[in-house]
Amino acid sequence: MRLLLMGPPGAGKGTQSAALAARYGIPAIATGDIFRSQVAERTPLGVTAQGYMDRGEYVPDEVTNAMVAARLGEADCARGFLLDGYPRTAEQVAELDALLAASDHALDAVVVLAVDTEELVGRLVRRAGLEGRTDDTEPVIRRRQEVYAEQTAPLIALYAARGLVREVDGTGTVVDVAARVDAALGAQSTIEASVS
Ligand code: AMP
Repeated sequence: MRLLLMGPPGAGKGTQSAALAARYGIPAIATGDIFRSQVAERTPLGVTAQGYMDRGEYVPDEVTNAMVAARLGEADCARGFLLDGYPRTAEQVAELDALLAASDHALDAVVVLAVDTEELVGRLVRRAGLEGRTDDTEPVIRRRQEVYAEQTAPLIALYAARGLVREVDGTGTVVDVAARVDAALGAQSTIEASVS
């Protein structure tokens, strides 16, 4: 199974991806988590990524693509993977297409978690307060939502044109959303191709 999990920041991708990956016996690969651990270890990659992350901007494609190419080349990805938070730009879609073509594989589905932007901003501002994340200010939280809307949301149409998108309502409890994701993966795509 080769899956993508897409959706705006705060939609619950991390929570759902762990459960989904366990169900299919595949690794969950979250580019945000890899970047955060590189930042914590102060590696050269982490030093490069940190400024972008602090501003709510995307890390440059060359950096992100090289990191993902290396990760997908590891042995545990041979039977499948779930990517959480990648691809987020058109260049990243192209890179993933090339990586899959080179290994003669294809994506099985793209799960999109849909949650209203204002609800997300509310969730993330509350979470930052509870966890004492003082650098996660409302302007940075809003900037992340804008960057997603500008650069990543349009990519959903590309995957919809390939018949891969399963859009799932991301509101409600973790269990409710997981049940919807399961149902969506068992069903045919509900979003018809809208890109020629
Ligand atoms: P996340 O935890 O997925 O929200 O990611 C946290 C941050 O890591 C993002 O705000 C970006 O700065 C960076 N990041 C994660 N994934 C990507 C990606 N695919 N492309 C560029 N930057 C990314």
